[in-house]
Amino acid sequence: MAPEELFSLALGLVPPWLVDDVTFQVEEKRLDIHINFPKGSHFACPVCGEECPVHDTREHTWRHMDFFQHEAYLHARVARVRCPEHGVHQIPVPWAREGSCFTLLFEALIMALAREMPVLTVARLVGETDTRLWRVIDHYVSEARTRVDMAHVHAVGVDETSNRRGHDYITLFVDLEARRLLFATPGKDASTFARFAADLEAHGSSGHAVTDVSMDLSPAFRKGAEEHLPNARVTFDRFHLMKLVNEAVDAVRRSEAFTQPDLKKTRWLWLKNEQKLKVKQKEKLQALLKDQNLKTAQAYQFRLTFQDIFTIKNRHQGATLLKAWLENARTSDLPPIVRVAYTIMNHWDGVLRWFESQITNGILEGFNSLIQSAKAKARGYRTHKNFINMAYLILGKLDLRLPT
Ligand SMILES: [Zn+2]
Repeated sequence: MAPEELFSLALGLVPPWLVDDVTFQVEEKRLDIHINFPKGSHFACPVCGEECPVHDTREHTWRHMDFFQHEAYLHARVARVRCPEHGVHQIPVPWAREGSCFTLLFEALIMALAREMPVLTVARLVGETDTRLWRVIDHYVSEARTRVDMAHVHAVGVDETSNRRGHDYITLFVDLEARRLLFATPGKDASTFARFAADLEAHGSSGHAVTDVSMDLSPAFRKGAEEHLPNARVTFDRFHLMKLVNEAVDAVRRSEAFTQPDLKKTRWLWLKNEQKLKVKQKEKLQALLKDQNLKTAQAYQFRLTFQDIFTIKNRHQGATLLKAWLENARTSDLPPIVRVAYTIMNHWDGVLRWFESQITNGILEGFNSLIQSAKAKARGYRTHKNFINMAYLILGKLDLRLPT
């Protein structure tokens, strides 16, 4: 068997396509495979499938999988056929997508690598620019997303994540049951919900089908949910509520530290769960708690009780205990705790809803840390589009249907 024939087989070419020349350039570590078709060949018209004569051809080059240490390139004259009915059309080639400078197999390699490591690293590995690779990723992610069926989405978690430090947000919408990222969009205002509702409609559902949503207390999110997920009952995420209480405890500690220097550098003693503290930290905490007059210790008790209440799975019981907590908090002489009490009272329905829905943004916390660690490894993303495509790739459970 001639080497050209071997390469034809290896590439899975079917007639009229065949390899008619193979050249190795040892110095450049480069393998060039030239694909051709015999004179007089016919190709199917892309519109009607009728076999038509070739009108003209254009030379194309595609990067293919490396052949050992050699970079491999395919070259072919891509034909345009002239259909008596449909005119002149370029025919698709079986080894590459139209418009791509990579073969399908090379793209499959890029996608497999991009799931595991930063795109810049992939770019360095394969010797291509990351811009070219992002284009491939965008194609496969967008295409896979057209196939996503959202008909069974009922409970949704919403949270924002940051693209760059301090500003520039992306809002994530997650299916809490299927545990997948449904939709990501720039911004953290109410319009993110409008775009999410439109995306639901593009995937066989609608904003009306969502019955439960978990989120923080952001007024923009509340407005968005009210307008675009009209049937959704809001549960305020208990991790966010806990964070408010923690911030109040820390505010009490910071102001008390002026008169009680012992409280300096004890932030985490009061905010971490006791079983997660080291022995020395536990001892220090126990010693501080002995002082009954310590305001920070009082605030800490509010925190512990609040946390306990949010383990109860009965609405009536939860409501009773939470009301008692609010009453104590509201009348305490700890201003930050009083403020939290009023915040919770002003969000009462959504706070109470947790005791029935039991939904939280827990999964979003995990998603967020995966996104942030990918982002850190990638040293950030230049564009929102890249950021969002990466989030879909990692968390979207997409069926990419890569060529094999
Ligand atoms: Zn035709």
